[in-house]
Amino acid sequence: MQSFNPPIRTLMGPGPSDIHPRVLAAMARPTIGHLDPAFVGMMDEIKELLKYAFQTENALTMPVSAPGSAGMETCFVNLVEPGDKVIVCINGVFGGRMKENIERFGGEAIVVEDEWGTAVTPSKVEDACKAHPDAKIVAFVHAETSTGALSDAKTICKIAQDHDCLTIVDAVTSLGGVELKVDEWGIDAIYSGTQKCLSCVPGLSPVSFSEKALDKVRNRATRVPSWFMDLNLVMGYWGQGAKRAYHHTAPVNTLYALHESLVMLKEEGLEASHARHAKVHQQLKAGLEPMGISFVVPEDQRLPQLNSIVIPEGFDDAEVRGRLLNEYNLEIGAGLGALAGKVWRIGLMGDSARPEKVLFCLAALKEVLGK
Ligand SMILES: *Cc1c(COP(=O)(O)O)cnc(C)c1O
Repeated sequence: MQSFNPPIRTLMGPGPSDIHPRVLAAMARPTIGHLDPAFVGMMDEIKELLKYAFQTENALTMPVSAPGSAGMETCFVNLVEPGDKVIVCINGVFGGRMKENIERFGGEAIVVEDEWGTAVTPSKVEDACKAHPDAKIVAFVHAETSTGALSDAKTICKIAQDHDCLTIVDAVTSLGGVELKVDEWGIDAIYSGTQKCLSCVPGLSPVSFSEKALDKVRNRATRVPSWFMDLNLVMGYWGQGAKRAYHHTAPVNTLYALHESLVMLKEEGLEASHARHAKVHQQLKAGLEPMGISFVVPEDQRLPQLNSIVIPEGFDDAEVRGRLLNEYNLEIGAGLGALAGKVWRIGLMGDSARPEKVLFCLAALKEVLGK
């Protein structure tokens, strides 16, 4: 056995995306105690920076010490009580996982379905709210990474509020990549991930909860069935003030990485980051279309940072991806679920959303496809 030296790849799949060297350098700094006053000061900065990223004043805004899936579970395990009716929108893999969560925690899932590769239809959400006036929560995925569809979070949240429902929003792929306004849109619980548009390493899940959501957690009839994710306990460590109680050992160096990536997001500016993702998407589209390659998602519902394209006739999915990886050190994503074998997913997220990387990806695809 020797030290592990990973190959140098360009990551243009559905995540992780390329990590900025500044973030990797931050991660290699000396580990200190997770209750060290210097560390606690950095935690406070992370909370402030996350509030900026989410565009929220929510006091409970912090990273869960585990990947995006754990942020998802944190939202559902705290907010869904046995017997709760939850309207859940499914237009891809991740909406399906939300339904799994609802049912595992004893909720009743009312499913609003849309075709894979399209956005959630707000009028269907409204119909479900009318048909189920006793529903407590509306849950949906803002940016469905399995297909590349962007849903209208603002409109869906408005419908939910009009029907007295809390909202749970998956923003794993949207945070940093497209407009997202937690307070203005009235989102009650939201989770994201560090390895998509934040140019940061995998392993953390930024979350934010409104006061209304926290009221529901505080007034539960039953205890939160997860010890690790119970917000009442997590708040003792991430909460306001200098008195922090031990809850779990925070992933210290991974949090250095998140801090650095959020400082970089602040330096760039949210709007500039969104514009950068939109611009490279146009560049990719302009390069793919002359090659006869088409997109899965209708243009007005497309996510700039995740591009599902139809595999051209006569090419083998795994063989092409294998050649891109082995000959060009370029990773693109395979299709998931119903789209497996039919599409490729090109991610333009975080540090992968750069014009030189799009040029490289287009050139490598051209070579491998012989266009
Ligand atoms: C990646 C992703 C997740 C899961 O995040 P992990 O960090 O892989 O656990 C959840 N939802 C969406 C929309 C995602 O793209």
